[in-house]
Amino acid sequence: MATEYRKPLPRPLSPSLTQPFWEAAKRHELVMPRCKTCDHCFFYPRSECPRCLSSDLEWVKVSGRGRLHTFTVVRQPANPAFQDDAPYIYAVVQLDEGPRLVSNVVECDIAAVRVDMPLQAVFADVTPEWTLVKFKPASPPP
Ligand SMILES: [Zn+2]
Repeated sequence: MATEYRKPLPRPLSPSLTQPFWEAAKRHELVMPRCKTCDHCFFYPRSECPRCLSSDLEWVKVSGRGRLHTFTVVRQPANPAFQDDAPYIYAVVQLDEGPRLVSNVVECDIAAVRVDMPLQAVFADVTPEWTLVKFKPASPPP
């Protein structure tokens, strides 16, 4: 599958800002920027904390667990490269650590998707260079 991925992939606009995110995704880890001054964890990556404007930042591994903040079911993708995937779930995920990110919910029946459902990150190695972070319904606690 990895060599046959022909969809338009997003590319970082500021590679130095986002490189730790993509490197962690390749390791199947989810990381977020965190401010060392005020402890605020945020996303998307920026050169300053959006809360206190400090530039003293670090990357921290997060749980990958969160909840579905909002979603839509895409039945007619704007880009024809995604037509074979339709219908698919375009989602905003609220991580347990606070940040929200745009992703897809996968491994989920379209009819079963609900706002606030628990999710966990999964990693799609779509090419040898790129791994995308997606989410699936969280396993119920044992
Ligand atoms: Zn801060």
